[in-house]
Amino acid sequence: MRSLIIRNGRVLDPSNGIDEITTVYIEDGVIKQVGGQCAVAGAEDIDATGLLVCPGFIDIHTHLREPGREDKETIHTGTRAAAAGGFTSVCAIPNTEPVIDSQTGLKFVLARAESDAIVNVFPYGAVTKGQAGEEIVEFGDLVYYGARGFTDDGHPVMNAEIMRRALEYSAMFNVPVLDHCEDANLASGGVMHEGDVSNRLGLKGIPALAESIQVSRDADLAALTGGHIHIMHVSKKESLEAIRRAKASGVRLTAEVTPHHLTLTDEALADYSTYAKVNPPLGTAEDRAALLAALLDGTIDCIATDHAPHTDIEKDQPITDAPFGSIGLETAFPVLYTKLVLTGRMSLEFLVHKMTAAPAAIVHLDPRGSLSHGAPADMTLIDLNKEFEVTPDFFLSKSRNSCFLGERLRGSVETTICGGRVVYHQRKVLRPQA
Ligand SMILES: [Zn+2]
Repeated sequence: MRSLIIRNGRVLDPSNGIDEITTVYIEDGVIKQVGGQCAVAGAEDIDATGLLVCPGFIDIHTHLREPGREDKETIHTGTRAAAAGGFTSVCAIPNTEPVIDSQTGLKFVLARAESDAIVNVFPYGAVTKGQAGEEIVEFGDLVYYGARGFTDDGHPVMNAEIMRRALEYSAMFNVPVLDHCEDANLASGGVMHEGDVSNRLGLKGIPALAESIQVSRDADLAALTGGHIHIMHVSKKESLEAIRRAKASGVRLTAEVTPHHLTLTDEALADYSTYAKVNPPLGTAEDRAALLAALLDGTIDCIATDHAPHTDIEKDQPITDAPFGSIGLETAFPVLYTKLVLTGRMSLEFLVHKMTAAPAAIVHLDPRGSLSHGAPADMTLIDLNKEFEVTPDFFLSKSRNSCFLGERLRGSVETTICGGRVVYHQRKVLRPQA
């Protein structure tokens, strides 16, 4: 039996309404008790004085790039980046090479996670074979072998008939279909958000409609089928009305927003910086304000990183050629804490909820995301006062393509505990013994 006691920390567990300086008792990898006195034999002791102690963060949108693009990231490096960002569970997007569209692929990811990962990895399956948008995968088979959801992310599901059938399977197997909403024809050739800034820079824009038209279609198909549609990385104010309408009429629709869409605008591309080239593209200040309001009022359900590693060689190309995407696991909490909590836009409790229990519920990972009795002991200890600069050598990710490079942030992840074991502590990775 392995035991761990975390003392004197500010324990914040939004789903159980806990916010007090107290003790957490862990036994055999699960939460035994929060608060009070508890006999735990031979326990290892952690002094969390001055630290926030909360459930480990859960990212339902992580590109780990393995198999096939190990030059960008691997399950080994990606889960170390996750732990350094306070994440104890990540859902792996299947747009790898090859695409994860069969039980063989799922088994590979799960086996590699078993041997190389230091946090939990929950894989998704693709919606269509090879993400080619033509032939739907064997949903039942993939669910049986551990797929937590289905997504062609990296690409939209353009064929409405295929999305309809995917959502019928979603209803049958009770798993979400997660869509990267982008009309490929409207978006074709675009580099950034279509608007004043793209005009000024002379870059081809992607209209907001490319996203919102797909959000509306997906909402209608979810209404028709009773399936669960999850809208990934919502980025434009035009999409929010369709989401509100669908939710009001009882459609099973959930949505996420990224830290970069909540804190940056298309002005970040003003110097043609490829690091700010993300898809969907950063919107206007008006979009940013609308996304924050939608997160606050529950229109958007949770925060997800869309951690998208790319090599320096790829990102050093001209902006028209560089790939879309920014890494995000290691900066998600400090960025949102610094820019939204410390500025009074949201409470710390709200932020932690939107990074823990809220995403867990979407992909049915609860009771992860809470410190409930019997929940897996996945936790994060954070020094809210510690300030640091985001430099290239800050990252444990294999890639450096962060749109937050150079920022000074507060809220440093000090310790990450996964399954009752310390896997990360003060910039050091601790590989747990099996
Ligand atoms: Zn995407």
